[in-house]
Amino acid sequence: MEHILSDRINSLSESQTLAMARLSRELIAQGKDIISLSIGEPDFDTPQFIKDAAKKAIDENYTHYTPVPGYPELRKAISLKFKRDNNLDYSPEQIVVSTGAKHSLTNLALTILNPGDEVIVLAPYWVSYIDMIKIAEGKPVIINSGIEADFKVTASQLEKAITPKTRMLWFSSPCNPSGSVYSKDELLAIAQVIAKHPNIIIVADEIYEHINFLDKHQSIAQFDFIKEQVVTINGVSKGFAMTGWRIGYIGAPKWIADACTKMQGQFTSGTCSIAQKAAQAALEADPSSIIPMQEAFKKRRDLVLKLMSDIPGLILNEPKGAFYVFPNISYFFGKSDGETTIKNADDLSMFLLNKGLIALVSGDAFGNPECLRLSYATSEDILIEAIKRMKNALATLK
Ligand code: PMP
Ligand code: GLU
Repeated sequence: MEHILSDRINSLSESQTLAMARLSRELIAQGKDIISLSIGEPDFDTPQFIKDAAKKAIDENYTHYTPVPGYPELRKAISLKFKRDNNLDYSPEQIVVSTGAKHSLTNLALTILNPGDEVIVLAPYWVSYIDMIKIAEGKPVIINSGIEADFKVTASQLEKAITPKTRMLWFSSPCNPSGSVYSKDELLAIAQVIAKHPNIIIVADEIYEHINFLDKHQSIAQFDFIKEQVVTINGVSKGFAMTGWRIGYIGAPKWIADACTKMQGQFTSGTCSIAQKAAQAALEADPSSIIPMQEAFKKRRDLVLKLMSDIPGLILNEPKGAFYVFPNISYFFGKSDGETTIKNADDLSMFLLNKGLIALVSGDAFGNPECLRLSYATSEDILIEAIKRMKNALATLK
């Protein structure tokens, strides 16, 4: 039989973060000593009090189908969290819980976009945005910003990219992959541009909210004049080390929340009952419970920057949040170790994997072909060894 698949799946790329993580696992299984700094996932285990809540949920028979947008008590906990941490007023009816923020984002693309609608994506962007938009038959319109601009797009760049077909704006702050954090003033300037176009929806991905080394996290929905045009995305994967539990959520205008619930009702129904009870415990807890993880990430960022600043040819900036560094590596283009010539970031990431035995992700996957992403969500010892390998491998390129 011919293996005929849909044009939809054939036009989709494999997630490059997951692909690199898969490749590293395969090489490790073959006995290669690879250090993988490819996937964005905290190395910490989920805190004990959250795991206890999940065990209790099983014993209390939270084992049935759940309401499609999530248990009412979880949506209430999220509503209180938005108020407590972000000073945002989202009632429980404006909240939809999904199977990871990835699912929340896909729901939004499928719910808002019609074929040909344009979605402005601020680059560098998180790898999956582009394919999610394409699945929904939207057209990604990318606005670039390089390391010299701290990887942040300005309001005037945004203004120029808007057309009558623009339907959405997607961005993350703190940003995956650059770690950049948009300031309150920068968010205000973006909000002022979008407010002139009442049919544009802003998707503000705040999943790295708790990994912000600057100060208090800033949400674009804080500006009342734009709030009706904003969907705030969040989840428990990063801040609470709960990647495997698959809980993400949105706070949105009620008409958008209702539409996402309808979409989800046909695709997945309410997400896992036990994970919802665990997430409720995480969000109801005093936010100070995760301070030790936040402090560890900051220490690791400082260590990684210090070690990498010693590598000739890398251009670095100081990420203000998330757990990634995103150095510009264009200095190495055209260089060779006598065997491999580096033409682009993909080549350099494969060179570092094969010759340096460390896995990073090419910036191409994030809309910046001059950079590589390194996730420092791992122990200091591993980071020291990984950067030593990186330095040695890069030194062979002449
Ligand atoms: N947004 C960003 C910016 C991310 O880095 C991730 C990575 N996991 C997600 C959304 C999705 O998170 P999850 O599906 O684990 O909640
Ligand atoms: N968001 C993480 C990353 O960027 C996890 C991998 C993924 O879901 O693509 O590496």
